[in-house]
Formats: sequence, C-alpha cells, structure tokens
Amino acid sequence: MNKSNNISELNYDVKKYRSDFPILTREVNGKQLVYFDNGSTTQKPKVVIDSMTDYYTRYNSNIHRGVHHLSQEASTAYENARVTVQKFLNANSANEIILTRGTTESINLVAYSYLRKKLSPGDEILITEMEHHSNILPWQNLCEEMSVVLRVVPVNNNGELEIEYLQKMFSPKTKFFAFTHVSNTLGTINPAKEIIELAHANNIAVLVDGAQAVPHMQVDIQHLNCDFYCFSAHKVYGPTGIGALFVKEDILNNMVPYQTGGGIIKTVSFAKTTYVDGPLKFEAGTPNIEGAVGMAKAMEYITEIGIEKIMQHEHELLVYATSKLNTIDGMQIIGTAKNKAGVISFVVRNIHPFDIGAILDQQGIAVRTGHHCTQPLVEKFGIPGTVRVSFGLYNTKEEVDVFIAALEKTVKMLS
Ligand code: PLP
Repeated sequence: MNKSNNISELNYDVKKYRSDFPILTREVNGKQLVYFDNGSTTQKPKVVIDSMTDYYTRYNSNIHRGVHHLSQEASTAYENARVTVQKFLNANSANEIILTRGTTESINLVAYSYLRKKLSPGDEILITEMEHHSNILPWQNLCEEMSVVLRVVPVNNNGELEIEYLQKMFSPKTKFFAFTHVSNTLGTINPAKEIIELAHANNIAVLVDGAQAVPHMQVDIQHLNCDFYCFSAHKVYGPTGIGALFVKEDILNNMVPYQTGGGIIKTVSFAKTTYVDGPLKFEAGTPNIEGAVGMAKAMEYITEIGIEKIMQHEHELLVYATSKLNTIDGMQIIGTAKNKAGVISFVVRNIHPFDIGAILDQQGIAVRTGHHCTQPLVEKFGIPGTVRVSFGLYNTKEEVDVFIAALEKTVKMLS
C-alpha cells in the first residue's frame, strides 16, 4: 500500500468524471449520496446509458440471422463488442471471448462445458478460502455429481494466500484450480501470474475470477496466460446481465455447448445436429444485445480515462480511508494484505455490521454489510459479517471525510 504518486500529478479530473454519472447528483434521505458500494455494482456514465437508448431508438433488431439493414447493424455492434472486450483484456483473438450473463454464468459454463467431461471419481478441484459463492458452488455441485473432492487453500490472518502452502496442495489428482484475482471481501490482489505458472507446471488448468479485478486494474490475458478468465460488465460501469468469459482458443474448440438452441448450429436434422465453431457455440438463443453495446461503451469510457490512473486514484482513497478508519476506537480491519484494491472490510467492537450500515444509510451513505457472498471466509474470521467500503473511479477524499464523520457518530451512538 505504498505507492507514492499523487492524484494531482496524474491529472485525474475526478470532478469531471463525476459529472459523467447522472445518479451521483441525487440525494438519499435528504443527504447528498455517497456511493461506496462499487464492489456490488458500479454506477453508469451517461454515455453507457445513451448507447443503449440509441440501440433501441435506432437499430434494435435480432442479430446473426437477418439480411436486412437493421439486423446487420445490430450484428456488427454485437460482434464489435466482442472485439472491444478482447482488446480491453489483451486477449489474442476475439474467438476466445464468449459473451455471457456475467461472472456467475461464466463459471457455471466452464464447470459444465469443460471440466465435467474431464473428471474421474477421486480427482480433486482446488479453490481458495476467499472465493465468492459464485466460485464455490459450481465446483461443489460438480464434485458431488462426479464423486470428486473439493480442496480449499486457506488464507492467512492478513487475508493472503501463502504460495508455499498452495504449492503443497497441488497433487497428481488435481484437475483444476479456480481462484479470484481480487477478493471482494478482503480486497487482496492475488499474485495471479505466479499462481498460474505454478499450476501449469503441475499440468493443472486454471480459471481466474476477474469480477473484482477488471474494474480496478490492468488485466493482460496474454501476460497472465490463464486458461479461463471472467468478469461482469455491471462492476465495470456497464449494464447488468452481461459479461464475458475468456477461454484459450484450443480449449474452447474442444468444449461442448453449455445450453443448446437457436443461433449455435451449422445444421439441424432430427437425427443429428452440428454446431458452429468459436464462441457463438456457447451463446444459444437471442443474446443481450443492448447489454453488449453498453458493455463495449463502458470499456471505451474507462480506456479514455486510463485504467492505470483509476487504479492509482482508488489506491490513494484506500490509503487515506484506511488511516482514518484506524483512528476509530475498536476498529478491526479485515483484510490487511500488502497488495490491496480499493476495498475495505471492517468491524467495530461487537457492533453488528448491519446496524452500522443502516445508520450510515440515513446519512445518504451506501455501504455493503454482511458476508458479501463469502460466508466460509467470514466465518473463518469468527465474525457475523463486515461493513464493506469499495471505491470507484468517481469517489473522492471529501466523501471519505463525510463517511468517517458519520461513522464516528454512528459508533458513539451504538456503543
Ligand atoms: N466473483 C466475485 C469475486 C464477485 O465479487 C462477484 C460479485 O460480487 C461475483 C463473482 C459474481 O458476479 P455476478 O453476480 O455479476 O455474476
């Protein structure tokens, strides 16, 4: 947590960026909204909202099956979105990008279309203790169905994975390793490249859950060299109901469809069906076309600002807020890894996180409380849940000050 650049040196015009997001001007409970729940979902800039209105206003049509003009415009926009995601992640080819409903669907897709075919009873799937439920349940279900063992890499008290320990958990029976790039509860940034290299050295295929990484840092798929990587657009200033799954092309070409139906076939007869090649094989039915348009616009928007600048800005907010929080009596920050994204989870004495969240809400401050879909992790720390603050590109130090003042009052009131 010790990067030294100053936001002002980075020419980061947070005021201007805030004015791009219409929702940020609203009041909640008579107070100016302070939105610190970006880990759950981010707000949308007007350009993203407008891009979807424009789609419905000017070129709404079904894709890939029409010769008429509107259908071609819509198909082009949809396929351009795939290319935008490919470039954003620096994947090798747009043929490696499957457009899905988001992270959860992407992980389920990999469990069904890839891993299910590869397992024998007694094999092992490895995950970590800091996974979101979306990166636990699909593997747990598969383990039950295929008589496979789910093994879990523990996190230490700082909320980090210990690489030496991780290495010991790889065995000849391990067929797959799924881990999160950034923890949504602890903020820990895992050393993804190093972990992927270790897994590959043991012939283990790797999925990285990028839901909390893509909004906060440069993700370079070719550099990471993982087999699968996924994220959700709604956490990256885009719309809900859309996201993407990267799959290495040679792996993708050997996967079976996740769902079957229109849009994914070469030929259909009652005797046999053959499927198209490439990502479309995994996109049965009419997809979320306006979502793809909005997701691509969000990525263009972030690229224009610069993801490195956003990361630096959020890092400064993290350092500033952490030092202020640590002055509050009874404060316990959960997740103190050396390398963290702009996420802070905490508890104060034995005050229930829900009570803190509800009183902050009365001041117009939106934070998340509870287990954050990481129940096993929260239980490991022996707490009922946390209050979580998660920053986005539009948050400011002034908002942190408002939050800290409100939190101090809340803690006094509840003590
Ligand atoms: N993985 C992580 C680390 C997350 O933070 C989330 C959402 O909070 C998910 C997966 C699930 O994302 P979605 O609900 O968009 O599918």
